[in-house]
Amino acid sequence: GAAPPPALEVQGLTKRFGGFVALDGVSLAVPEGSITGLIGPNGAGKSTLFATVAGFLPPGGGRVLLRGRDVTGAPPWRLHAAGLVRTFQIPRPFARLTVAENLAVAAPGQEGERLPLPWFARGRIREQERALRRRAMQVLERLDLAAHADRPASALSGGQKKLLEIGRALMSGADLILLDEPAAGVNRTLLRAIAETIARLNREDGITFLVIEHDLDLVAELCEPVHCMAEGRVIASGRMAEVRADPAVAEAYLGM
Ligand code: ADP
Ligand code: MG
Repeated sequence: GAAPPPALEVQGLTKRFGGFVALDGVSLAVPEGSITGLIGPNGAGKSTLFATVAGFLPPGGGRVLLRGRDVTGAPPWRLHAAGLVRTFQIPRPFARLTVAENLAVAAPGQEGERLPLPWFARGRIREQERALRRRAMQVLERLDLAAHADRPASALSGGQKKLLEIGRALMSGADLILLDEPAAGVNRTLLRAIAETIARLNREDGITFLVIEHDLDLVAELCEPVHCMAEGRVIASGRMAEVRADPAVAEAYLGM
């Protein structure tokens, strides 16, 4: 039969901020089941691409296809419901909620959100809350954060907050996760933990990733294919070894 469509396909995407062209006709594909890398110097437009794909910014032109379906300009909640979730370059947990609560509020479709509740619904809600707590604990165990479940999210280290972001994406049931610099500012030990977590979620849970990352060794280890952006355009795509050897890529990184 025909090959399945890519998990995500971006075709000729453009985005301007006033007169500044942040995305200048970006086309790239994220194959189903892959950990696809997105590299490029600061200011290349990588985070803007995430924001535009995930519905946080309206695109100027071009198309976004989610498993072959046109979702251009769809709002974040609709993409979220369709399984696409992005994390932020700077993690944004609810600082005053506990780590476990941060996961629980990321789960979709909670009945307790519709108030007031009739008396007969309350037992059911309590059962749902217990089930949510169990799921949150399962996710935290997968991320090695279970010991921190009842601490406020603000007490986590920067690297643990990055893991919490991945956890929130998992809780939402996402099967396509866009990670914005998951290892930035993280110590070596936690960097290994984050890399192994991404690889395991990909291998065991079949989650597809698009990962923005500056640590090129980490990208080489985890990602295939890799796309390199510079000045709002994709300048190279392929295996990391090929992308790294591309003179245009070397030139784009020289200015850093
Ligand atoms: P990257 O993530 O590759 O480092 P960004 O997507 O964050 O790059 O930014 C690309 C360019 O767009 C930068 O020059 C940045 O200053 C600009 N930019 C990003 N967001 C905005 C915005 N909301 N308003 C104006 N300019 C922006
Ligand atoms: Mg960025």
